[in-house]
Amino acid sequence: MPHIKVPMEHDKKIALVAHDNKKRDLLEWAKFNRDLLAHHQIYATGTTGKILERELNIKVIKLKSGPLGGDQQIGAKIVENEIDFLIFFWDPLEPQPHDPDVKALLRMAVVWNIPIANNRSSADFMISSPLMDSPYDRLVPDYEDYVVREIHLGVEDDLEEEKE
Ligand code: PGA
Repeated sequence: MPHIKVPMEHDKKIALVAHDNKKRDLLEWAKFNRDLLAHHQIYATGTTGKILERELNIKVIKLKSGPLGGDQQIGAKIVENEIDFLIFFWDPLEPQPHDPDVKALLRMAVVWNIPIANNRSSADFMISSPLMDSPYDRLVPDYEDYVVREIHLGVEDDLEEEKE
């Protein structure tokens, strides 16, 4: 499949999300990387964002709480190219009421080739990449063939049959 290039600016739009049992982990990670994060634009689901804003004293664009639609809002922003980086510490040991939304968000990140870290070590590698500090062209599959594909509804066949 051919690709199109989507430029990522030097200052990136980063979404941070953590399930309740992972919020401490994310906070510790974010505190350690506070100065690096501070010059990017930070988005977060409601409760995660409130904690980060309070503890790090940085500006966070807060969306709805995850179970109330925040994950879906982040997914929609990825589709609209308004978020280009996702750090999502999800909890592998606890069922979540919004599990379909979690899955949908992870899926959108893959569909649009967004860098995504789901645990601390991945987040460490990502934030310390030299690419963090330079513009970067993200290669997104060109979905045009999919968009314009022919769907055969069988309507023509029905019309032919009626004529006979
Ligand atoms: P929260 O949502 O930051 O509002 O707790 C996180 C999530 O569960 O997706």
